Amino acid sequence: MITEIKGLHHVTSMARDAAENNRFFSKTLGLRRVKQTVNFDEPSVYHLYYGDETGSAGTVMTHFPFPHIARGKQGTGEVGTTVFSVPEGSLKYWEDRLAAERLGDLERSESFGQQRLSLRAPEGDALALVEDKADSRVPWTGNGVGASEAIRGFHSASLRVRDGGATEELLKFMGYEKAESANGVQRLVRPGGNGADLIDIEVLPGVDRADLGAGSVHHIAFAVENRAAQLAVRKALLDTGYQVTPVIDRDYFWAIYFRTPGGVLFEIATNEPGFNRDEDTAHLGESLKLPQQHEHLRSQLATWLQPLEEKESA
Ligand code: ZN
Repeated sequence: MITEIKGLHHVTSMARDAAENNRFFSKTLGLRRVKQTVNFDEPSVYHLYYGDETGSAGTVMTHFPFPHIARGKQGTGEVGTTVFSVPEGSLKYWEDRLAAERLGDLERSESFGQQRLSLRAPEGDALALVEDKADSRVPWTGNGVGASEAIRGFHSASLRVRDGGATEELLKFMGYEKAESANGVQRLVRPGGNGADLIDIEVLPGVDRADLGAGSVHHIAFAVENRAAQLAVRKALLDTGYQVTPVIDRDYFWAIYFRTPGGVLFEIATNEPGFNRDEDTAHLGESLKLPQQHEHLRSQLATWLQPLEEKESA
């Protein structure tokens, strides 16, 4: 069994409108934009990262805004809902704040004994906020959401699959333990993780595969401390028969990828070197950072890429 995985690292989704994406995740949800860079394979497309002050593993929501893509269609073989952790008693604040933006599908419920508010981001991302009184992670409060309400990182993510058995076995192999189940959802927990320790498996036998598009999760990444731990995980997965990519340098972490039996794309990402590798923590996400191989495109990219922030009126 793998012991090196310590919860989630990041969740990466597709989007269409970069400025809208930036507005919603940083202004509305109050996350800190910790990096603006571009897609390694498609440098005319942003890669935007939002998280806590430093972009700690287990807090980082990232997006690829492809300007012309269609909306995704929800289905199986994907991450269903990405769930953020908020303080106890804060959901009323969030309900009012999100209702004021006329977001669709706002719905309160109780899930595994915790209060939950489900919502759809403007481009369709299925998100939820859960009140978790046991979460002691320090939230980012620099975007106007105070500490008694602010998001502290991921609470959980759900995987939507046609058959949960093989996915559950894989997660157990990755160090997760079976926890409660309710309403057709099997919860697994990584004891001693980084705070983003829960995965829910939603089994939907008759549901078609999802179509990837704006609002869909592209992949979900799990955290390991360093490159040595990542190599150990890679070997364990290969020895078990998974087809795992070589280690890829993503500038702010190293990554390996593999497809789960249920069709979800998993990544294992290192906590090193982190988002302050090329900018001071005080100024994370303020300027466009480019992978070295795309640096020569900087002047073109400055005209192609949509401005993230509306110009301040004079
Ligand atoms: Zn990733």
